[in-house]
Amino acid sequence: MLYDAHTHLHEFLDSRIEEFSREIVMVGVSDDYPSSKRTMDLAEKFSNVIPCVGIHPWNVDKVSIDELRQLERLVSEAGCIGEVGLDRRFVPQTFDRQLEFFRTFVEWARDYDLPLNIHAPDAWRDALELIRRSDVNKALFHWYTGPLNLLGEIRDYGYYISINAAIKIQEKSRLVAREAPLDIILLESDGPYEYRGITLEPPMVKDAALIVAEIKGVHLDELWDRVRENFSRLFKHV
Ligand SMILES: [Zn+2]
Repeated sequence: MLYDAHTHLHEFLDSRIEEFSREIVMVGVSDDYPSSKRTMDLAEKFSNVIPCVGIHPWNVDKVSIDELRQLERLVSEAGCIGEVGLDRRFVPQTFDRQLEFFRTFVEWARDYDLPLNIHAPDAWRDALELIRRSDVNKALFHWYTGPLNLLGEIRDYGYYISINAAIKIQEKSRLVAREAPLDIILLESDGPYEYRGITLEPPMVKDAALIVAEIKGVHLDELWDRVRENFSRLFKHV
């Protein structure tokens, strides 16, 4: 099996998900309460879907605190919490409210012992400090394009990063792949997000794996073995 550590399955048709799930174990993240519900339903239907529930930092100004409380009822059934986090790059104007929401998710991650699937453009250190101080055990920094000198700390705390399939055309992802130790690397598509004209989807983790294996100077099979080990430590699957 192959592994995609971050994809928005709720945006795909069930027929596509079924096709993907034949060869890929996928962590499905959510953006709000309705998509969290759908992701939970998909995990019932497809055994290779690990459901994350959460409210995306881009949505915090559209969601009430009541909806956040409603979401808590799904958390105990979920396999992880995401997509959650902090974003100073795309939505700096809502940062205070993002922080309020993220603190709640961090508490849930600790209380329910669940991994966090974190979005943190230009807020990598803020997110790292917050989870570390809160004694969160398991976290993934998704589509990591942050400072290279933070990778050592992420590893020391036992956290992980995912490298996106955009590595085909994104130079920063190549630099991250070069610098990150193999024992913290996962792969992801973030599908169906569109990046510079490419619609990302789960099977593209294969392209990412080829590139990362080449950068790391390891055989493709070994790369997938390492990714599988990292994945199962973080998500308790396989
Ligand atoms: Zn995402």
